[in-house]
Amino acid sequence: MRNSATVRLIDELGRIVLPVEARQAMNWGEKTPVEIWINATDHEIILRQHRFVCTYCGSMDNLKAYQNKHICPDCQRAIATL
Ligand SMILES: [Zn+2]
Repeated sequence: MRNSATVRLIDELGRIVLPVEARQAMNWGEKTPVEIWINATDHEIILRQHRFVCTYCGSMDNLKAYQNKHICPDCQRAIATL
């Protein structure tokens, strides 16, 4: 799981820059949504790409965004028939 380690210093605002090699390896570009998981017990912070899911059923397929929520075509059709 861990193939390499890079040491970076946290700046005065609490920021670090992800190494370009890490971003390329993960195929993360500008605006990629990233989750930050904190494991204080093991002194770890884990970054994971956030995957949007349908607000209603949890599907990850063909989502459309509306007012900061995501919806799949099946749920969109179901709601339209209400
Ligand atoms: Zn859905």
